[in-house]
Amino acid sequence: MSEEKTIPLAVNGGIGFGAKLTPQQLVALGSYLDSNSEVEMTTFQQLIIHVKESHVDEVTHSLEKEGFSVYKVGSYVKSLRTCNFCKGAEEEGMPVAIELNRRIAGQEVPFTLRPAYTGCPNACGEPLINDIGVIKRNEHYELYIGGQAKGEDARTAVLLQDNLEPTQLYSLTDAVLELYRQNGRKRERMSKFIDRYGLENIKKHLKLGS
Ligand code: SF4
Repeated sequence: MSEEKTIPLAVNGGIGFGAKLTPQQLVALGSYLDSNSEVEMTTFQQLIIHVKESHVDEVTHSLEKEGFSVYKVGSYVKSLRTCNFCKGAEEEGMPVAIELNRRIAGQEVPFTLRPAYTGCPNACGEPLINDIGVIKRNEHYELYIGGQAKGEDARTAVLLQDNLEPTQLYSLTDAVLELYRQNGRKRERMSKFIDRYGLENIKKHLKLGS
């Protein structure tokens, strides 16, 4: 009989003061995996595990009960990478990061999309080298798009809009993702989409000033 297919899942401890897991969570994680399976650590604050297809729902539910966040792997928006919120949750906008992550993580997009958030302009969460980047500056938020850390065409993201209230940040991010989903080609990275579609064209569709 052939081996049952396994499905990769991305797992982390959710958004908090740094990408941390408790010993209890690590023990629980191990108990849901086959002894010969491997756990991959990514640079994006996620662990990749492989679970038998028929067990995905059960393992996801169990891990969520242990305080893990579980995400699909593939052409989806990844969970929001964040800084460590060293100056405090409220001051650095942790509730906004949690809500933004809740809204966008797992959305289907043309190619895996990495969003990053950082609670002040020190930008420890590296928002400018990710597909979507958010910087909190004083009481408002800046949204950047098109950063890319890998490849010889690596580049920093460009500012799409600054001075955003949280609700404006959520709706503009949703609109960017929808535009990318509708107009991006299959497996076209956000940076390549911006090159082809044009930043000014994107701004025009989103009704933003130049
Ligand atoms: S970006 Fe700012 S708030 Fe976040 S960890 Fe760095 S210095 Fe602290």
